Amino acid sequence: MKNKIGIIGGGQLARMLVISAKKMGFYVSVLDPNPHSPGGQVADKQIIGSLDDIKAMQELSGNSDYITIEWEMANVDLLDEFVKSGKIVNPFPKTLGIIKDKLAQKNFLKKYSIPVSDFAPVSSRQNIQKIAEKFTYPFLLKSRFDGYDGKGNMLIRSEKDIAVALEKFKGKLIYIEKFVSFLKEISVIVSRSMKGDMKIYPVSENIHENNILRTTIVPAKVSQHISVKAITLAKKIMKYLPGAGVFAIEMFVDPKEKLFVNEIAPRVHNSGHYTIEACSTSQFEQHIRAITGLPLGSTDMRTKAAVMVNILGDRKGETSLMGLSNALKIPNVSVHIYGKTETRPDRKMGHITVIGKTVQEALSSATKARKYISI
Ligand code: AMP
Repeated sequence: MKNKIGIIGGGQLARMLVISAKKMGFYVSVLDPNPHSPGGQVADKQIIGSLDDIKAMQELSGNSDYITIEWEMANVDLLDEFVKSGKIVNPFPKTLGIIKDKLAQKNFLKKYSIPVSDFAPVSSRQNIQKIAEKFTYPFLLKSRFDGYDGKGNMLIRSEKDIAVALEKFKGKLIYIEKFVSFLKEISVIVSRSMKGDMKIYPVSENIHENNILRTTIVPAKVSQHISVKAITLAKKIMKYLPGAGVFAIEMFVDPKEKLFVNEIAPRVHNSGHYTIEACSTSQFEQHIRAITGLPLGSTDMRTKAAVMVNILGDRKGETSLMGLSNALKIPNVSVHIYGKTETRPDRKMGHITVIGKTVQEALSSATKARKYISI
């Protein structure tokens, strides 16, 4: 009987995946360099090694029937080898290969006529200046690989920012992207089973500050027309991305109600954390079901509205959680703490989900609960 799952990466996404997998009786190993990783704390086994350590990856594979990721920079060639040796790997290595390079991802979307902001490869400073004339300021320079929470992005407001950006991105492959003056950011979380059945979660609205997700609101405050358009776009994208699992598709909505796809994540996503309390099947359970050949669960909301607020670190040092008791006195508040031993400004340390009858009610309780907590 196949019941062993291996996850590449041991952060909070892995932690919540492990909890769902354990509920259904799977044996789970995670690979992470940190011996006290959030995922490793709850898994059956943790392999300690960097996420690009070939030996450690092979050990993980040796312990697994099913392999998945929480980190999209995983070595695609190695994952291909695991497939050849009989392991069931999702997302498919080919799909991961397209997504992990943000420039390749944008080219892929453009090829299939999916609306994206204008973009272009960057080879030199002269090349940036030339494109800048066409794009006009401001625009973004983005790292092609391993940029998360906006860490690989820089907003270029004028010519003098170019030199600063080139220094910051020294030795990195980058590309240029036109700035979208969006009204809202939304995401569509899609799940697909091994048989190809698809289930889609309600469209969520995401509020970022300094490029980091702060708040997710569900249902998104967008017209029915936008919601349908976003889901149609997400389905179209999925046609070209084979493999099972959960995928998150982030989009911008501009003032003319035009949608631009910002980014695809071939995995569970921060904007889907609310599904643990608010949906019949959480994104985490759904991903485990999908990658192990089980049927997908319902993605229906069990409540009218839900709000998720991230708990980000506000200082540097050892983690010390305060205010949990006061936060939990508020009805319908759920607090998730990821078990990270070190906190630092803007590090994702946990999140709060509030379910309610209206978005306003849930948002008000979530904001209140968030104020009580420090970590
Ligand atoms: P990313 O890591 O590329 O998804 O970017 C993180 C955040 O930066 C997004 O959620 C947006 O808030 C912002 N951002 C990224 N690309 C653009 C763009 N082309 N125009 C405007 N804002 C952007």
